[in-house]
Amino acid sequence: MIDRCGRNIDYLRISVTDRCNLRCIYCMPEEGVQHVSRSLILQEEEILRICRVMAELGIRKIKLTGGEPLVRSGMPQLVEKLKNMTGIEKVTLTTNGVLLKEQMKDFARAGLDGLNISLDTLDEACSRRITRRDELNRTLEGISEALKYPEISLKINCVPLGIPEQDLCRVAFLARDYKVHVRFIEMMPIGYGKDFQFRGESEICEILEKAYGRMTPIKERYGNGPCHYYDVDGFSGKIGFISAVSHKFCGECNRIRLTSQGFLKTCLQYAAGRDLRAMIRSGGSDEELKAVILEA
Ligand code: SAM
Ligand code: SF4
Repeated sequence: MIDRCGRNIDYLRISVTDRCNLRCIYCMPEEGVQHVSRSLILQEEEILRICRVMAELGIRKIKLTGGEPLVRSGMPQLVEKLKNMTGIEKVTLTTNGVLLKEQMKDFARAGLDGLNISLDTLDEACSRRITRRDELNRTLEGISEALKYPEISLKINCVPLGIPEQDLCRVAFLARDYKVHVRFIEMMPIGYGKDFQFRGESEICEILEKAYGRMTPIKERYGNGPCHYYDVDGFSGKIGFISAVSHKFCGECNRIRLTSQGFLKTCLQYAAGRDLRAMIRSGGSDEELKAVILEA
């Protein structure tokens, strides 16, 4: 699918649930999260149907996300079905890692290609402040388990918040000691993220260079997204940055998003899109679905 700006849209991010077992301060409120009734969330067959139609239109890579995708049951089975779908080349998952340890083997068996695990800090108190839960250890167990499957590419995502005790260097160190890429994501001024101090790429680079020495920008991309990477001497993995605020990358965007309620969003920053759930549930054909997706 080539859009009106000439961009090849081949990547679909699917939110499989709006629920989560953490309450990160930049993502969700502490109390009173209104959960959508299950009947309004896309069922597995509906997700698979949309993906099949999307694959026929040129989607090649699928990322499963949330909320927290692992609180939805049957995720390894969904991965396996997507991996067996004609046209789909890569299936990856973004998770907070809390429920990963128990499911990692099943994901490996299902053929998962890549995992992004969110880890903003290695300090327990800081993690409690950011996530409002006491689950850092389980996330770390999830990461250890994931490291047992070198065939599944592993990336750590860290949103630097500007909290004094946040140990960015310790998180970056994971890329020295293990074959993982550590990526720093600039806080985007969306949702609860609007309330937080923005820490840009140049500031983080400066902090890391003081600790580890020179960081050399490299051209390799390691995935489908807008992350750019640096080499650091003596590190097994790379250090990456997803800098939506300081480095605009809209011109290279290759993705569309499907919300857990089946709304197709063409851009994270705008509400515009199409209600695919309504089409499916009112008996729309595959051809009608395709027409609406192309029009969006
Ligand atoms: N629950 C999973 C997780 O935390 O990895 C998947 C969903 S979460 C919304 C996906 C990623 O978005 C996480 O790495 C999270 O840190 C990041 N994120 C959430 N709000 C953000 C914001 N305002 N700016 C930048 N990244 C954000
Ligand atoms: Fe949950 Fe991920 Fe949001 Fe944190 S960032 S509250 S783990 S969905």
